[in-house]
Amino acid sequence: MPLPYQDPTLDVSARVEDLLGRMTLPEKVGQMLQLDARLDLPEIVLGKLAGSILHTSPPKLVEAAELVARTRLRIPLITAEDCIHGHAFWPGATVFPTQLAMAATWDPALVEQVGRATAVEASATGVHWTFSPVLCIARDLRWGRVDETFGEDPYLISELGAAMIRGYQGDGLTDPTAILATAKHFAGYSETQGGRDASEADISRRKLRSWFLPPFERAARAGCRVFMLGYQSMDGVPITANKWLLNDVLKQEWGFTGTLVTDWDNVGRMVWEQKVCADHAEAATVAVQAGNDLIMTTPGFFEGAQEAVRRGSLSETEIDAAVRRILRLKFELGLFENPRTPDAERQREVIGCASHAELNLEVARRSLVLLRNEGVLPLTSPGRIALLGPNADDVSAQLGDWAGDSGQVDWLPEGHPRSLTTTVLDGLRAALPAGWELDFDPAVEIERLVPDPEGETFPDGQPRPPISQGIPASPGRLAAAAELAAAADYAIVVVGDTVNLTGEGKSTATLELQGGQIALLDAVAATGTPMIVVLLDGKPHALPPSALGAAAIVQAFNPGMRGGQAIAELLFGIIEPSGRMPISAARHAGQQPIFYNQVRGQHGTRYADLSQDPLFAFGEGLSYTTVTYDGLSIEEPGVAVDGTVRATVRLTNTGSRAALETVQVYVSDLVTSVTWASRELKAYRQVVVAPGESVTVELSVPAADCTLVDASATRVVEAGDFELLVGPDSRPSSLLSAKFRIS
Ligand code: BGC
Repeated sequence: MPLPYQDPTLDVSARVEDLLGRMTLPEKVGQMLQLDARLDLPEIVLGKLAGSILHTSPPKLVEAAELVARTRLRIPLITAEDCIHGHAFWPGATVFPTQLAMAATWDPALVEQVGRATAVEASATGVHWTFSPVLCIARDLRWGRVDETFGEDPYLISELGAAMIRGYQGDGLTDPTAILATAKHFAGYSETQGGRDASEADISRRKLRSWFLPPFERAARAGCRVFMLGYQSMDGVPITANKWLLNDVLKQEWGFTGTLVTDWDNVGRMVWEQKVCADHAEAATVAVQAGNDLIMTTPGFFEGAQEAVRRGSLSETEIDAAVRRILRLKFELGLFENPRTPDAERQREVIGCASHAELNLEVARRSLVLLRNEGVLPLTSPGRIALLGPNADDVSAQLGDWAGDSGQVDWLPEGHPRSLTTTVLDGLRAALPAGWELDFDPAVEIERLVPDPEGETFPDGQPRPPISQGIPASPGRLAAAAELAAAADYAIVVVGDTVNLTGEGKSTATLELQGGQIALLDAVAATGTPMIVVLLDGKPHALPPSALGAAAIVQAFNPGMRGGQAIAELLFGIIEPSGRMPISAARHAGQQPIFYNQVRGQHGTRYADLSQDPLFAFGEGLSYTTVTYDGLSIEEPGVAVDGTVRATVRLTNTGSRAALETVQVYVSDLVTSVTWASRELKAYRQVVVAPGESVTVELSVPAADCTLVDASATRVVEAGDFELLVGPDSRPSSLLSAKFRIS
């Protein structure tokens, strides 16, 4: 005779209450734990009674299910993983371009398909939940996690984030190919000080509401089931303890009924790092009372929460509230009936399957941004190519962080099978037309890892990662590379960074290309051979004069497993370049922050020693043709607050190749009650324009979106005069303008 909670015909609330009523305090506290499955799994499941695990290797995913069968109440585990750009820690799975690269497509439909493909692969392996998407807005480029973001603009991030969530969550919780999406890191984590990871964010509630919260609000309203908390504190309060943000804003205002998960040891960090709690019992009290559900990788929470109940600072009723939400999620996922354990047959069908590889190639193609072209591209007249640079044949630079052997998991020491990734060298070799020749020499290295002089571990015992040390160019190898370049018709130099210079805890003080790379660019430039610079990196870098003088520059970020093929196709003109910068690039690290939507009001427009103009602006990107914009006209320049501003603009393709143009629509509120951004992206459209053709593009912006956040931190539309700014990128000089009035 099954117990009531085991009876699928009962409603979820009845099952939750029945099960909760049978649980002991240790079982309840255990349910709230999400622990690191790389450690002792039997101890995690049978000792700490954990409700959830992460970083679970393929064999341990099978073992976990067996261990659950040995627990008293057999409450299924929920398994989570960082499937951030594909199920990238699963051997042989499809690794897509990183989020930053995906953002350069500006295409929500494509990003949704990436989410779907990832969910299909992950769900077959027994993973129920991904810690993605990142909805932080990239601000200071020195921050190590810029590659994980969709760039700097709240509107673009919202569009792409909502699309990815749709893709992951498919037809809803009962869809066996769906995985839970996580909006992270809620909120303000990216507003670091000096780019330093997880440092206190100097950010007011008004500023949060202005730029940091909108992508999260959109995610909550799009039904994202989980929110992960940021590490940092704001105004002295760690996010884990921020009742205003977690309760008043997220749950009350936005109606979020999903699950909250802390980030890695956030609860422990309140004790050992931020030092706002004396011990784990105090930290557990603060975390539970702020409304947290799952506590990620703080094993001390198990004893701490029980001790807090004994001390009377935390009541069992407060723990019950969190456990109820966790159990509800498990019942709604149907895990008690079908624990969604690994399915070997399905894995054979879907992991890295041909249709996902095809999608991956398409995303990589669309993610490439042509930033400069002095007529050298596409390469058409047969010749000799010197392919140089450390990232031309480097799988890990191509896949980026959170993939294979990038360091977060321990079961893929050699990364993914080499044959699954097409490097730039592979791509060029495969696409090289008859009559062309190709020489290759990486010529220089970027860096090596050396032990951190501060010691091997952090105070909590976590390993302190080794640090990166640049490797200078060797004069002999430089001379050999220069010789290859001099003998060639074109030099393609692939430079960038490594996974040791990107990621969590790996912010950089500078934005310079490291190691021997600048010397290589200088040496190649000195030969006079037309140079094409390909940037394979986790963030926009400040480029040396030799690179800026190149005949062409292609920004690829980390373009995923098929990136090398996409780059070769772009260079040979097999595809049209169409990516647009989702983030501004700086001329110098000292220009930070350089995002385009700066607040008006400063003395002058430049530094004494440098312009404030970005090196490459948000939205920028070229095609192999030229497209002109003219005739911007607003249908009805006076609109009501509930009306829509409608406009048209004419695009003319004046060249001989097709263009996929991203028509960007910015709005400037001309006089505001508080200082506000000079312009903000409010809409965009992607249109194909055939050679020689003119098309009229219809644009619309709801007046209700022409908002600002006023002095009382309320988002409002202020009636008055506005400017609609339309063009191919965010630079004021690129935009046509027309006035409208909201009454
Ligand atoms: C990161 C999160 C990630 C989590 C689990 C943390 O260190 O900040 O983004 O999801 O680890 O791997």
